Amino acid sequence: MTRIHLYDTTLRDGTQAEDVAFTLEDKLRVAQQLDDCGIRYIEGGWPGSNPRDEEFFVAVRKLKLKRARVAAFGSTRRANVTAADDLNLRQLLKAETPVVTIVGKTWDLHVRDDLRISKQANLDVIADSVAYLKQRVDEVIFDAEHFFDGFRADNEYTLACLKAAADAGADVLVLCDTRGGSMPQQIRDGLQAAAGVGAKAFGIHCHNDCELAVANSLAAVEAGATQVQGTINGFGERCGNANLCSVIPNLQLKLGHECVSAEELKKLAAVSRIVYELANIEPYKRQAYVGDSAFAHKGGLHVAAVQKNSETYEHITPEAVGNRQRVLVSDLSGRSSVVYKAKQFGLDLDTADPAVKTVLDKVKQLENAGFQYEGAEASFELLMHEALHEKVRHFRLMAFRVSDEKNNESEAPLSEATVMIEGPDGRVEHTVAQGNGPLNALDRALRKALTPFFPQLEAMELLDYKVRVLGGGEGTEATVRVLIESGDKSGKWGTVGVSPNVIEASWQALVDSIEYKLYKDEKEASKAAPAEAGASLQAKT
Ligand SMILES: [Zn+2]
Repeated sequence: MTRIHLYDTTLRDGTQAEDVAFTLEDKLRVAQQLDDCGIRYIEGGWPGSNPRDEEFFVAVRKLKLKRARVAAFGSTRRANVTAADDLNLRQLLKAETPVVTIVGKTWDLHVRDDLRISKQANLDVIADSVAYLKQRVDEVIFDAEHFFDGFRADNEYTLACLKAAADAGADVLVLCDTRGGSMPQQIRDGLQAAAGVGAKAFGIHCHNDCELAVANSLAAVEAGATQVQGTINGFGERCGNANLCSVIPNLQLKLGHECVSAEELKKLAAVSRIVYELANIEPYKRQAYVGDSAFAHKGGLHVAAVQKNSETYEHITPEAVGNRQRVLVSDLSGRSSVVYKAKQFGLDLDTADPAVKTVLDKVKQLENAGFQYEGAEASFELLMHEALHEKVRHFRLMAFRVSDEKNNESEAPLSEATVMIEGPDGRVEHTVAQGNGPLNALDRALRKALTPFFPQLEAMELLDYKVRVLGGGEGTEATVRVLIESGDKSGKWGTVGVSPNVIEASWQALVDSIEYKLYKDEKEASKAAPAEAGASLQAKT
């Protein structure tokens, strides 16, 4: 077992990815998260490349990180100035971080065609920059850019570059697969050859252009690297960096290395989600270990087996990385999925129970019609209770009408909805409301009709509304599926509606969403005060 130090560069390399940008506030939140889950180094940015990175280094000092060391990133000095006169190095020192990481050229092609200096001059640049920083900073990390490409082109020269950095006092030499084009064996070969330069420690920095960044990082650790650089969710230039959300559990749970504590590992899924959220990118469901689908079971046989013993189809306990097992409701699922779901909803069913078949038949029939309950668990829960002949409906629709009006081209259209319902005591409410769209008008009119009976509906909000056209029909005749996400202060829930008519589909999802709120509140109340709740439920029905 080796202690592996994790080096996160989400805030620097990660932000070089297409579509990823963080505000200063976001960067601080990410840093806090990384510290909480046991990351040893946090590369905060490139001071001098943009003002936001400079502000970050000032603000991060106030965060009081528990264990993580903050690193500033930059490049070696320019060829024609001394280290002391180099603006880049000066800005790195101004960041006042305990760690400075500098990247230097180690591929002769870059020295010749990009820097356009002699090979010796580049060795001087490396030695000089590292030595200068090492006198002024606690820890200096040298990133050997294009190490593996350079090694294949001119191994002697590439190793000479590493030796220059090691002799000048670099604490860690990080071998970079900057273009992401290397195979695992080439990574092993590179590390083995580098072992001779007399470094204190080696690190690895891989890019994912061959979908091998994680595998290559593991190969490097097997060959002796003790620092692994990467980003949360693999964010990074082009195809990204090594994904720490996979690297960490692989090293720790599969290879027996020590990266973070078991408690810190449990925060991984949450960190992954928060970083997606801050980057405003939809989380990748199928992401290994931390994705929503990583422990989701759909096939009936699988579901039956994981219920008996989750090891049958799960390679680790999902909770070890903060994830959870999910059983999907789908047309593939059998009796065991229904029983599993029922248990989640507090219903004790047995696979032999005739009610299970009733639910299953109903789900199959609805799924054929285009319903889908992944993302609409609240609708499914209501359906299940109804199939068991429980009363879950609190009101009855008598009629609705929705109209849209647009009087000239420059004016926004206006929607108006009229709703007539029968409340729980038989009273009829007839309301009208306007909205900035048909669903909005319908929602307002319905709430207006229902709040006299159920004042708690005021605390409920519609959070998201998605319309999806289903294949099958032709053009405007196609069936649509509407998914609505609603929430109140105690949680969120999803509901679904399907119809060739978008208003009708929206209505179904809207009604389910309101019914679910009422049902959920009753369930919570009965949990809080079991004796009283029974009485109040009776009074209502
Ligand atoms: Zn990189």
